[in-house]
Formats: sequence, structure tokens, C-alpha cells
Amino acid sequence: MVEHIAPPAQATYWFISGRVLFSIIPLLGQELVLVSIGRGIQESEHVALAKELADAIGAAVSCSRPVVDAKWMEKSRQVGSSGKIVKPKVYVACGISGSFQHLAGLKGNPFIVAINKNPKTQMFRVADVGIVADLLEFLPAATTRILGK
Ligand SMILES: Cc1cc2nc3c(=O)[nH]c(=O)nc-3n(C[C@H](O)[C@H](O)[C@H](O)COP(=O)(O)OP(=O)(O)OC[C@H]3O[C@@H](n4cnc5c(N)ncnc54)[C@H](O)[C@@H]3O)c2cc1C
Repeated sequence: MVEHIAPPAQATYWFISGRVLFSIIPLLGQELVLVSIGRGIQESEHVALAKELADAIGAAVSCSRPVVDAKWMEKSRQVGSSGKIVKPKVYVACGISGSFQHLAGLKGNPFIVAINKNPKTQMFRVADVGIVADLLEFLPAATTRILGK
């Protein structure tokens, strides 16, 4: 059964990261982890931040449609009703709002970690862990922590 955890109103990623993210992800099948980026990544130069986190945890990178429309990633990486159907064990949604067209691409009831600066985003309603944070701060901090730097 999937447990839905809403982010506490005052949650910070330090609290969540120390107790949940860094302890859970490495214990699950790393080859079955997707780090997926949405429009919240803001510009093409920031895509590298997600790729670095993915490399650190042995994950692949995917994205939402606006990321493809902006030509920040190739169409083959798009998850959703007009993209790929994926079936990871863990899905790390970075700056993805959780539209039904995007969620239609997620099969197999993955463990969803959502990172979003908006605590009211739809993605938190389907996430198992919600992290309220700015991606541009969180992603490099998470990568550094995981790599033990
Ligand atoms: C026919 C049709 C087919 C479609 N097919 C697909 C499909 O296959 N796949 C798909 O993904 N979409 C598809 N869409 C588009 C879909 O409706 C949504 O528009 C899209 O999924 C939204 O993508 P997003 O979540 O990346 O962007 P947005 O909805 O713009 O969400 C961006 C999120 O990033 C957050 N954010 C912004 N800045 C930051 C920051 N600095 N740090 C943290 N969070 C931040 C925001 O709070 C927001 O929640 C389709 C639409 C149609 C009409």
C-alpha cells in the first residue's frame, strides 16, 4: 500500500533530506530510479544539476513535456501520455506539477519523491515523500551530501 505523506507546512529540505531522502534512495534498486525534471528546472543550464544527482545515485534522467518543448532534453526522455510509459521503483520528480498527462506515464506504483517549491503542488498529493525546496539549492546540496563531499 502506498502511503501518502503531505509536506509539513514549514518543512525544510534539511529536515527531510537528513531523515528520509538520503536514507531511502540508496537502499532501493538504484538502476530502477528515475530523476525526472519539469519546468521548475527553469533553464537548460540547470539540467546538469539533475544529471549530477542521477549519476550520484545510479539513476536515469527523464522529464516532463515542457522540458522537451523547450529543447532542454530529447523527446525520448519525456514521461507521460504523449511520451514514454515508465515503471521505475523510485521516481524523483523535480519541479513537476503533477498533471494527469504526466502521471499517466507512471506505472507500477513507484515510490515518488517530489521536490517542489510550491507546497500546494498537485505532485505532493501523489508523492510518498514531499520536499519543499528550491531545486537550484536542493539538487546540488543533495548530490554533495550523497557523494559524501
Ligand atoms: C494532449 C496533451 C498531452 C500531454 N502529454 C504530456 C506528457 O506526455 N507529459 C507531460 O509531462 N506533459 C504532457 N502534457 C502537458 C501537461 O498538461 C502539463 O502542462 C505538463 O505536464 C506540465 O509540466 P511541468 O509539471 O514540468 O510544468 P508546470 O506545470 O509548469 O510545473 C512546474 C512546477 O515546478 C515548480 N517549480 C518552479 N520553479 C521551481 C524551483 N526553482 N524549485 C522547485 N520547484 C519549482 C512549480 O511550483 C511547478 O509545480 C500534455 C498536454 C496535453 C494537452
